[in-house]
Amino acid sequence: MAERLIVVLLGKQGAGKGTQCSALSAQYGIPHVSTGDILRAAVRDGTELGVQVKAVMEAGDLVGDDLVVALVKERFAQPDAARGALLDGFPRTLAQARALDAMLGDERVSLCVNLDVPTSLVVERLSKRRVCQECGAVFRADDPAGVSGTCEKCGGDLIQRSDDQPDAITTRLDAYERDTAPLLDYYRERELLVTVNGDQSVEAVGADVSSALRTRGLL
Ligand code: ADP
Ligand code: ZN
Repeated sequence: MAERLIVVLLGKQGAGKGTQCSALSAQYGIPHVSTGDILRAAVRDGTELGVQVKAVMEAGDLVGDDLVVALVKERFAQPDAARGALLDGFPRTLAQARALDAMLGDERVSLCVNLDVPTSLVVERLSKRRVCQECGAVFRADDPAGVSGTCEKCGGDLIQRSDDQPDAITTRLDAYERDTAPLLDYYRERELLVTVNGDQSVEAVGADVSSALRTRGLL
């Protein structure tokens, strides 16, 4: 079997990790694994896990490493993960990065793509972000779907995430600087880090990410 493609997307909240992962996933048939999406689905469905993490998530704080690592392990056991994974929102602490490496055993992370965007831009993006309650598609408050409040893909209702409120945005960006930014060095030291300018059109960012993967012989 060919080596699995395991790509870690790093970047601040609102950098565009989810958007790029869903485009890449459609293009290359590799599952998009978003720990945020998995956790939000659990909250929405009111599962035991959801009840446990709801308040932490709404405040914009991080869920415990053990819990998230267990979720990813479970996700990796699904059949579609035999093709690889586009990891969005995981790992986001050094402990999670080490746990991922341990989980992969002889395999390695193929590449870590850092979507680089200035903080002022992500604050603006997050406060204008509207998401579909049903399918998770993302829109802006001032695009037609955002104005109408209806998802263009599935007709679901668009909402503002409770952690996209100003106080929670600040908490999340602080958590990024404190817990996640050190991962840049972790992957840089392993010669796995590529930085892409995230302040471009969705298509241009996608083209840069694909070209980074191709340069490394991963596509
Ligand atoms: P964002 O990156 O925009 O904050 P996500 O959808 O990735 O949004 O995550 C939303 C929330 O889910 C986080 O603020 C955190 O509470 C929780 N979460 C997601 N992934 C992880 C993780 N790997 N470790 C700890 N908490 C996580
Ligand atoms: Zn939808």
